Amino acid sequence: MTTRVSLLAAASMAAFLITGPLAAQPQYNGFPKSPTSPISQAYRERGKEAVEFQKVAPFKMFDNVWYVGPGYVACYLIKTSAGAILIDASEEPAMVQHVIDSIQKTGTNLRDIKAILISHGHADHFGGIARMAEVTGAPVYAAEEDWKLIEAIAGRPGRNGAPPIRTPKRDRIIKDGDTLTVGDTTLKLYVTPGHTSGVMSAEFTVFDNGKPHKAFYSGGLGGRDGVRGFEQAVVSAERVSKIPGIEVYFANHGWNPGTDYPNGSIFERAEKLKTRKAGDPNPFVDPASWQQNITIAKARIASGLEEERKKAAATPAAAR
Ligand SMILES: [Zn+2]
Repeated sequence: MTTRVSLLAAASMAAFLITGPLAAQPQYNGFPKSPTSPISQAYRERGKEAVEFQKVAPFKMFDNVWYVGPGYVACYLIKTSAGAILIDASEEPAMVQHVIDSIQKTGTNLRDIKAILISHGHADHFGGIARMAEVTGAPVYAAEEDWKLIEAIAGRPGRNGAPPIRTPKRDRIIKDGDTLTVGDTTLKLYVTPGHTSGVMSAEFTVFDNGKPHKAFYSGGLGGRDGVRGFEQAVVSAERVSKIPGIEVYFANHGWNPGTDYPNGSIFERAEKLKTRKAGDPNPFVDPASWQQNITIAKARIASGLEEERKKAAATPAAAR
């Protein structure tokens, strides 16, 4: 509690990246802490070692979408007329168990999960997938490039001599432009490389008291791993920014690597949802913040690419 209070105080003193309504030309000036997302940021800062702290209760964001992740990594459960779709499963042992418990608390039987999507091949997202596939019996989807990444990690010892991460077996392959339909729900799937070579993103419809809204889940918008990763991220972010009419953004972390989701991220909006009165808008429906976010992300990635190019130019070819 002390941590949260001091973070809030720090955040209120911090200069906001953007203030007021949609700024025409957001400027990117380094990697600020998330100034409007102190609660979401605290989950990152305290880390997965703070097991009990990370176990956030599942909450209903829309008629058909629940948050079922721990605090530091997002997992979403999309309910359909014929079972559910799960995006990511966090990691073994405690966090995936929390996701399993959370799914059950939403009233979904594990065997009613019909598809599991992996956002990308980093262990905080896929480390619990093997277990989740076992308990649900559901097929697991990932992009080809990230199946390769997962396979490359298989068998490698974990950090600080930890046992190797249990990896899921290659199952279904996501191709850019695929659609995934379960019951009355269809996800349009994108492969948006940059953060890894096979980041999965998805476009689908959410319902708020029956009213449809266009939603976009991003498996990761940042660049990573040198010039090539940043070049890919530039292309992906540009492409994503052109998807018209996005009203709801589902981030793959409540904190966003390197920048903030303006006007509050997952857990700040969840607080607003708790006190929402009849007739109030759903705090997760926020097209203006999405536009700010993708604009800032593009600027951040472009500047990251420049840095990577400088670094590469300064490194002798033999050392690259
Ligand atoms: Zn990642």
